[in-house]
This record gives sequence, structure tokens and C-alpha cells, in this order.
Amino acid sequence: MNGSNYRIGHGYDVHKLEEGNKFIIGGIEIKHSKGAIGHSDADVVIHVICDALLGAMSLGDIGSHFPDTDIKFKGIDSKILLGNVVDIMKEKKFEVVNIDVTVMLEKPKLRDYIDTMRKTISSILGSDISSISVKATTTEGLGFVGREEGVAAHCVCLIKK
Ligand SMILES: [Zn+2]
Repeated sequence: MNGSNYRIGHGYDVHKLEEGNKFIIGGIEIKHSKGAIGHSDADVVIHVICDALLGAMSLGDIGSHFPDTDIKFKGIDSKILLGNVVDIMKEKKFEVVNIDVTVMLEKPKLRDYIDTMRKTISSILGSDISSISVKATTTEGLGFVGREEGVAAHCVCLIKK
């Protein structure tokens, strides 16, 4: 096995939270008084996965593929963007080994939503749910996450040819 056929990638993203907005995260809508805002549907989990996968292929980031200055991406379902990234991966003959996402969010608790997120993500990627990890943490009341001003997420992925 050629080690160079394995590639790792990392993604990081932040979105502002605003009162009265829909909160789309991990491909699903969750119940909360606030929601993330952005040019697209502001799905921080899907965005970090796109960035990690593109990073693993050294193909830039989500902003270079789907610019937020382009009206056609306004309000777009980020699952469509991830679908496009998956198409690029297939073209380059890569497949996902595993993905690990950490969401930083003060409220609400994501525990009850995690498995639905994992299932949603794994179906877009065409990988087994056991390869997709989503975890959530608070920042103990500190910083913009702690003040409930925003949501942040990190993702690392491993892909292979
Ligand atoms: Zn984003």
C-alpha cells in the first residue's frame, strides 16, 4: 500500500447566531431561539466538512469553489455544496476513510441531533455512518461561543485513492 494515497484535511468555520433565524446544522434544522446566518444556509458542520475534504485534495476551500459574492449560492442548501465536493472527490478517485467534526456551541445541547446529522452526512458522502463522527462541546461560557454570539466547528478527515 502506497502511503501517499492517504491524505488528511482540516476545516474550520464560524457563523454568527441571530435571534429568530432558522438554525441549520449538520444538514438538519434544529430547534432554538437563534440560528446561524451567512450567505448560504450557514451550516457550519457541512462547511467544515467541505473545507476538510477540499484541503485534503489541496484544492482550496469552500469560498474559492462557491464564492459568497455569487448570487446563485445565496441561501443555498449546503448539502448541495457538499454533494459537489463529493463529485470532485470521485473525479479525483478519492474516497472518505473517516471524518471527525467538533462543534463549539453553548446552546442548545446537540446530543439528540447528532445521529441524524451523522446519517444525513454519511448518505451524501456514500460512506458508512460508522466513518462519520460529530461531537459537540461548549466553551464553558468563554468567548463568542460562550456569549452565544456564534457557532464554530472544526473538522479533520482522512481520504484515500
Ligand atoms: Zn460557513
